[in-house]
Amino acid sequence: MNTLHLYNTLSRKKEIFEPIHAPNVGMYVCGPTVYGDPHLGHARPAITFDLVFRYLKYLKYKVRYVRNITDVGHLENDADEGEDKIAKKARLEQLEPMEVAQYYTDRYHKFMDELNVLRPSIESRATGHIPEQIEVVQKILDAGYAYVSEGSVYFDVQKYSKNYHYGKLSGRILDDLLATTRDNLDGQDEKRNPADFALWKKASPEHIMRWNSPWSIGFPGWHIECTAMGCKYLGETFDIHGGGMDLLFPHHESEIAQAQIAHGIEPTKYWMHNNMITINGQKMGKSLGNFITLEEFFNGKQKNGEKHPLLDKAYSPMTIRFFILQAHYRSTLDFSNEALQAAEKGLKRLQDAKKTLQTLSAPTAGTNLQPVPTLEISLLSTFCKTAMNDDFNSPIVIANLFEAARIINSAKDGKTQLIKDNIEALKSLFDVYYTQILGLTDEADGNNSELIDGLMQMILDIRQQAKTNKDYATSDRIRDALTALNITVKDGKDGTSWGY
Ligand code: ZN
Repeated sequence: MNTLHLYNTLSRKKEIFEPIHAPNVGMYVCGPTVYGDPHLGHARPAITFDLVFRYLKYLKYKVRYVRNITDVGHLENDADEGEDKIAKKARLEQLEPMEVAQYYTDRYHKFMDELNVLRPSIESRATGHIPEQIEVVQKILDAGYAYVSEGSVYFDVQKYSKNYHYGKLSGRILDDLLATTRDNLDGQDEKRNPADFALWKKASPEHIMRWNSPWSIGFPGWHIECTAMGCKYLGETFDIHGGGMDLLFPHHESEIAQAQIAHGIEPTKYWMHNNMITINGQKMGKSLGNFITLEEFFNGKQKNGEKHPLLDKAYSPMTIRFFILQAHYRSTLDFSNEALQAAEKGLKRLQDAKKTLQTLSAPTAGTNLQPVPTLEISLLSTFCKTAMNDDFNSPIVIANLFEAARIINSAKDGKTQLIKDNIEALKSLFDVYYTQILGLTDEADGNNSELIDGLMQMILDIRQQAKTNKDYATSDRIRDALTALNITVKDGKDGTSWGY
């Protein structure tokens, strides 16, 4: 019997997974705001819900997985205030906001592909769904749970709280929210209550991303895009809504309120949230200056070619993926070089065992070694399945794969023997859990970057030699060839550095 249990953040307990329209499953996950390079904090939700997506597909569900791209760049700290992040970047770099969004969407795809994260079935952009968002705002206004103030539209949290529970998901208490005074923030005086949130904001003159609406030329509030796009592609209520724990409040709490009023129903049956990645126990974030982009992880250095203060070396995409899967998605995960190096070693052990498995053949008759009982090996697969059915417990799956590696190595060393059925069962175990469900590949470890470092050093030495010999034709040719590969070379007083 195969019963999947998953932890529902809303009920705060594990529940049996029963899709609303089995075998179809609708899953919506909040995607990135595309105004900067993806970092480790982006990798965790992407990999967590990739694991869920892969496992549901393995269970033969027909999954429609929707993940949005937030290309209206919602605002520093608070969804309602401050300068739009994408517009700010566009202004600083003299680009169209859509150029910024496109560039970082492409970057996001590139790095998620490297992490072997499957693309969702639908990747919906907020800017491509403005009419749908206006429609939801209008429904909430018509129902009397929102008000227009100075061309902006706000959700009336206090009125909502009279009939519904605002705070049911996050556990926040409304009185505490109301007591929070933020008088110094722009827009507060337009609100009836500090806890009210924007559904539509009137654009100030310098705000470049703007659309027509019945209320003003402006732009949608942050939470409304997920309500509009989730409903459009998955229906008024769907199976799984996921995201990082940092989105519990106000984002997901507000999504529940919006859907409840606009559609008269809870938006989703199961809320799933992955925990955060910390550095020395502290949240990783741009504002804290302790974040590491995925590109920096893969290259082992900063974009300008200099050493990253937080990285001892480069780590491959598969090491990062394995590191994340080694923790249960609801546990915090603390970054350190030691932990990543341990993950790298562990992954290599599994990769080596998987390779060894291809070379093992069943022994010829007459060996006097005790064969491994078939039951012991078939149990590993049962344990893996039980673990996945228990709220996607990937660390237990990995522990069982290590046990399989131990059996394989012991056969390789001639200490035990495996019969043909054993070998087939182990191959199938790796195929299903290592490859299909955990999404791990046999890609090489971080050695590639060491190789590139070595080659680059050699090229720069030759260039230096050419310069010393006043052979500028050769040194220029080397520089031009590197430029064509998007590698920049900088000559400083401490020597030559490079980056890409
Ligand atoms: Zn969202």
